[in-house]
Amino acid sequence: MSDPVTEPTQTGAEQHDFSAEVGRLLDLVVHALYSEREIFLRELVANAADATDRRRFEALTDGARALPDNAGIRINPDKDARLLTLSDDGVGMSKDELARNLGTIARSGTRAFGQQLENAKPEDKPSLIGQFGVGFYAAFMVADRVDVVSRRAGSDEAWRWSSDGKGSFTLTPDSRSTPGTDITLHIKEDADEFLEPWRLTSIIRKWADHITWPITVHQDGE
Ligand code: ADP
Ligand code: MG
Repeated sequence: MSDPVTEPTQTGAEQHDFSAEVGRLLDLVVHALYSEREIFLRELVANAADATDRRRFEALTDGARALPDNAGIRINPDKDARLLTLSDDGVGMSKDELARNLGTIARSGTRAFGQQLENAKPEDKPSLIGQFGVGFYAAFMVADRVDVVSRRAGSDEAWRWSSDGKGSFTLTPDSRSTPGTDITLHIKEDADEFLEPWRLTSIIRKWADHITWPITVHQDGE
């Protein structure tokens, strides 16, 4: 596969195209899973927990990467701004990792999942989703733009990945005081429910009960 096209824009952002496979997956996820939208939170919390586990592991051989005492996953809805932000103290992603993990490589199960989903009867789709998970791209079921600001543990640099899920993403230098990742969802007009703390809490209880890191759902704008 050739490298994604890179074009500097006026803001200093580099624009990259999604790989064809990621583009197809995004299309499927956004259009096929409407009734199962709440699982976006399960996917993002699972990723945050994996990233925190990974940092703890890396800290075994590099003490400088040690987790803060209050390491965990924070969920912040802001109704006025229509933003939902998930923050973690995990291992973070470098610029290259952002481009690769959130734009080029689709998960191994993706192709099979896509085919099964396309062919499935509507009533069978929820169980397919449960079986495979749809990963990070599930965010685009409820958001018309997603921003990811991340700082890799062991680095001072932070980068912002941003996309409307329609073919390309941008990478821009940013800053973050500590390692970890903030994922900000610009919530769609018809997805208000995902800005309600009680709704977010109930999704967490249902889908993220097994996560061992503390998960905090903040009140609006808190
Ligand atoms: P999977 O979790 O099955 O690998 P995802 O689509 O959910 O697939 O995520 C893709 C990749 O993006 C992850 O494997 C991980 O490398 C990276 N990633 C996603 N979210 C985070 C995060 N919060 N912190 C660090 N890396 C992340
Ligand atoms: Mg995942």
